[in-house]
Amino acid sequence: MLTNNTFKHGVHPPEHKDETNKSPIRQFPFAPLFILPVEMHIGAPAEILVRQGQEVSRGQVLAKAGGYVSVPIHAPVSGTIRSLGNVHTISGKMVQGIYIEPFPSSTQEVMEGTPVDVESANPEQILQAIQDAGIVGLGGAAFPTHVKLKVPDGKHCDTLLINGIECEPFLTTDHRVMLEQADDIFMGIRYLIKVTSAKRVIIGIEANKQDAAKHLAWHIPRGLPVEIKVVPVKYPQGSEKMLITSLLGHEVPSGGLPIDVGAVVVNVATTAEIGRLLPHGRGIQERVVTITGPAVKKKGNYLIPIGTPLRFVLEEVGVTDNISEVYMGGPMMGVAVSNLDISIVKGTSGIVVFGEEHVTKSEKIFPCIKCGACVDACPIFLNPSKLGILAKFEAYDKMAESYNLMDCFECGSCTYVCPSHIPLVQYFRLSKSIVRKRKTKEVTNA
Ligand code: SF4
Ligand code: SF4
Repeated sequence: MLTNNTFKHGVHPPEHKDETNKSPIRQFPFAPLFILPVEMHIGAPAEILVRQGQEVSRGQVLAKAGGYVSVPIHAPVSGTIRSLGNVHTISGKMVQGIYIEPFPSSTQEVMEGTPVDVESANPEQILQAIQDAGIVGLGGAAFPTHVKLKVPDGKHCDTLLINGIECEPFLTTDHRVMLEQADDIFMGIRYLIKVTSAKRVIIGIEANKQDAAKHLAWHIPRGLPVEIKVVPVKYPQGSEKMLITSLLGHEVPSGGLPIDVGAVVVNVATTAEIGRLLPHGRGIQERVVTITGPAVKKKGNYLIPIGTPLRFVLEEVGVTDNISEVYMGGPMMGVAVSNLDISIVKGTSGIVVFGEEHVTKSEKIFPCIKCGACVDACPIFLNPSKLGILAKFEAYDKMAESYNLMDCFECGSCTYVCPSHIPLVQYFRLSKSIVRKRKTKEVTNA
């Protein structure tokens, strides 16, 4: 089960997992108002089907998928649509959204749909059911899972990798899911095998979650071709490409996808959600979120209805008076929240809150001293130092054409090690979005 195989480079930030990894998943209370942005996944926004004043049941479809790369949104509570209007999102952009006020005395029972039988359903029916359930990557990417699972013509999937790595500091969502939802995970794997035709399945887990590895190993159903592999702790081990290198020894080519080396990678919580929802024909209305950080009083793992306002979450768990930074996701790949009026969405794996005393305010940025630490840290062998200099000169096209900027998956390892405090990953995020916009313009003008 234990392997020493790992990818080259990477970093070892403090883990901070002990603060919540023993905390069982608890149901979070229902907020007085829910806010559901139609853009909580990658792809086309969902299209609203309800109107102001309409009464809805928990699990009902409120907005349908806006295209193939899109998913519907289900009601997280039974209640009344208070209004439709613009809502805040983590990106700072205002998008269309739905406000729901729950019925005060409802039992909040979830609507049952049409079950999808794993034995008799064909791959296309399962893919459709995954889209209909509104499932996206719960590790944080929020990419529609049915699109990711569709094996393109001419390619084939040898290995299904279930990603239970969770290398992001502070977060223990996937850890608790592996300890508490083993049956759902294995049911999800049955659906995924049918869709991908994978011959073998590997669940990858980091060595700081040995209890989860043992628990899952004990519960593998007879006849299911599943192996558990435990890899050394190193960030960003949980990224798809790193996991493939560590477990399969293959390098995904630049600009390529896991399927190019015969693999499909699915997050473990997403797998559990497939196994939990499809047998009931239900849609996703809640998810497990780690709420932690030094400024949080009641740290833990909570099952939180989608659309719960962040402000309500922080009130319920209690935070110190002097909060300074709130991250959605972890501190390495998460996003600093600039507005507490956003809500928990499908991609929210964690909320990490720091007080003023835990944050070094506006560290001075020094010039690059060519120490090479960022080059040694980058897991995909980019040259962050050179890319950083080019970003300062706004040489975005050169960054993309000569230095593989678009391969950067924004893991933040380079920023973490830089002694000059150069915000490299922030530069690269911005540079990538400029390159993408330019490309879209070129295609539109062509
Ligand atoms: S953020 Fe990009 S450039 Fe920096 S280490 Fe990660 S992949 Fe490499
Ligand atoms: S780590 Fe920072 S200072 Fe060192 S080479 Fe990279 S960008 Fe320059």
